[in-house]
Amino acid sequence: MSSLAISLLDLEPDASVCLEAEDYQKRPGKWCAGCGDFGAMNAVKRLLAKEQLQPDRTVFVSGIGCSSRFPHYVNAYGFHGIHGRALPVATGVKLARPELDVFVTMGDGDCTSIGAGHWIHATRYNANMVVMMLDNNIYGLTKNQTSPTTPQGHKSMTSPRGAALPALDPLQATLGVSNASFVAQTADWVPAHLFATLQAAYDHPGFSFIRILQRCPKFTPDVFQEKVQNPDLIELLVHENGVDVPSLEQLFKARRVHDPLNIDDARALAQRRDMLRLGVFYRNDSLPVYEDVRAVPKVSAEEKVARLNKEFERYAV
Ligand code: SF4
Repeated sequence: MSSLAISLLDLEPDASVCLEAEDYQKRPGKWCAGCGDFGAMNAVKRLLAKEQLQPDRTVFVSGIGCSSRFPHYVNAYGFHGIHGRALPVATGVKLARPELDVFVTMGDGDCTSIGAGHWIHATRYNANMVVMMLDNNIYGLTKNQTSPTTPQGHKSMTSPRGAALPALDPLQATLGVSNASFVAQTADWVPAHLFATLQAAYDHPGFSFIRILQRCPKFTPDVFQEKVQNPDLIELLVHENGVDVPSLEQLFKARRVHDPLNIDDARALAQRRDMLRLGVFYRNDSLPVYEDVRAVPKVSAEEKVARLNKEFERYAV
């Protein structure tokens, strides 16, 4: 599939029909067996069905990468853009049609390398959308090149002796941006947590950035394996304003109550390397939202013509 593809609806819009999760699947996802993108897709479909989002009022925007194939698979409007440019497109959609629900999928290379400038500014703009950064620590679609989040020492086609630098931490970077309003981390192999995080992001009125740790059995099969096999290496951040899933209490013994409104604690937790932390690091529902502060009053066609005529009269001889 070439870039800049626009996908349209398969469903006839009908708000009176109750939609099931499978109604939002336009066609089966074409990812490798065991790919974490399948788990993300399932969580997205569950959220769309729970909120009964109408496909003709919902837009999925992506850049380039394995996870950027989402717009082709979800039954909604979609825009499969160019590498790193999902966020400016999504911001434009939100400014032109603020009533639409906008979702963005990006990979780690797409977001934190090619699209890094857009990522920083879109975070500051704080337009109301759910942004899923599926982080498999590698460029997968182009077959195994080092990305900014690749662990130091990991070998790839572009770093045959191993990645030279320490990995960029997307949580720390996002938490450092002025006006950042929602920063969370979850994992494709904890479906209940992934769904609850998506729900919190959807409920948040602003730019909801979720880093989804995503398994890539093809090129980075080992990077999350230890954590997948041993839940004791994971600490859940729990809070009523973040994510708290009682059904996970038995499996994940390490739990920390963290108020997501506390930015200093959020930054300190994002810096620590003793455990992998899943949860909402930061959430502030009262920060300025771009489409609200930049709202331009709607003008009717008649009024526009009248204004134009008035302008022309100034030059009449
Ligand atoms: Fe998934 Fe990796 Fe295969 Fe891409 S290359 S579809 S990320 S498993």
